[in-house]
Amino acid sequence: MECIFCQIVSGKLPTDIVYQDEEVIAFHDIKPQAPVHLIIIPRRHISSLVHLSQADLSLVGHMVGIANQLAKREGVAESGYRLVINCGEESGQLVPHLHLHLIGGRRL
Ligand code: AMP
Ligand code: ZN
Repeated sequence: MECIFCQIVSGKLPTDIVYQDEEVIAFHDIKPQAPVHLIIIPRRHISSLVHLSQADLSLVGHMVGIANQLAKREGVAESGYRLVINCGEESGQLVPHLHLHLIGGRRL
């Protein structure tokens, strides 16, 4: 059984996709914590930060670059925003597929 974010990647789970390219997909968080709450994921399944290889580091750089672009598009680049990656149970990571939260649009 594919993880929930792999199901989004494969199109089995319809989602509000706001950006996609060969490496990543970004969509609206289903339970937003702020007026702007996007999730940026790699298309390839990587469980979490601890499972990143040296070769994956450029992928994470790409995810951050896309998050910055989306922050501009969403109008929070000037007001400020937060990028979060949870890793592991005690961090609150619920979905076992690496993802970057882009949160903004209110004082955090
Ligand atoms: P985390 O706690 O870091 O694992 O965050 C997982 C995030 O994914 C949460 O903010 C959820 O609201 C969000 N989420 C879970 N399922 C979906 C979905 N089907 N579509 C969009 N966001 C989702
Ligand atoms: Zn996955």
